[in-house]
Amino acid sequence: MTPIGEQLCYTDAYLRSVEARVTSVELGEALLVVLDRTVFYPGGGGQPSDRGLLLRALDGRSWTVSAARKSGGEIAHELESKGDDPPAVGDMLQVDLDWARRLALMRTHTALHALCGVVWRDYGALVTGGNMEPGGGRMDFEFERMSGDLVDAIEAAVNLELAAARDVKVAVLPREQAFAIPDLIRTRINLLPSGIEEIRTIEIVGLDLQADGGTHVSNTAEVGQIRVTGYESKGRINKRIRIELLDPVG
Ligand SMILES: [Zn+2]
Repeated sequence: MTPIGEQLCYTDAYLRSVEARVTSVELGEALLVVLDRTVFYPGGGGQPSDRGLLLRALDGRSWTVSAARKSGGEIAHELESKGDDPPAVGDMLQVDLDWARRLALMRTHTALHALCGVVWRDYGALVTGGNMEPGGGRMDFEFERMSGDLVDAIEAAVNLELAAARDVKVAVLPREQAFAIPDLIRTRINLLPSGIEEIRTIEIVGLDLQADGGTHVSNTAEVGQIRVTGYESKGRINKRIRIELLDPVG
């Protein structure tokens, strides 16, 4: 299903505000508002959804958006209060992200890609999962021989790559073309549903290439440096590495 609303987070991660018209308001266990365009990221791939504000310029009324999610292909904004005065279909609203939080997530997400890239390049270990909050996150690897010494080396190697100010590029490729890239296989691209015709890729030029739906900064220099804050065994093969941004505020 092609969504009606423009989903700007996928084409311009730095867009923090936009004017939009309400196309649907649905009151279930939460109040969900769909707009004809939005800058909100709906969550997914380990990156939590955005938070922010909807503001109706006409009367100054505003609503806090506590989360966003995909609903029927559209990005739905979940309002904090169910209230008895929701926005109405047709209302023009200003859509504002909690930008400090989003930027921290973009930097964290990009740092995790650098971690993936280093662990793959230096140790050939596959990623099996990941999760993040603003300023810190974790990745799981099939990495039997991980140890404390290796973790120190990984931290140093990741920081070297971040400091190298590598560009981060977004592309949308036809499925066939994406599947022809050998490096994409390690992120389990082969698990993507067969109905998906286009695949969005994120490339840290010279380091990492992944199929990915999230938001990232455009250069690794914006991440700053990271610290490995922990590592654990989740079994003989599966290992978890936790990182955090040295400067979470940027
Ligand atoms: Zn990602």
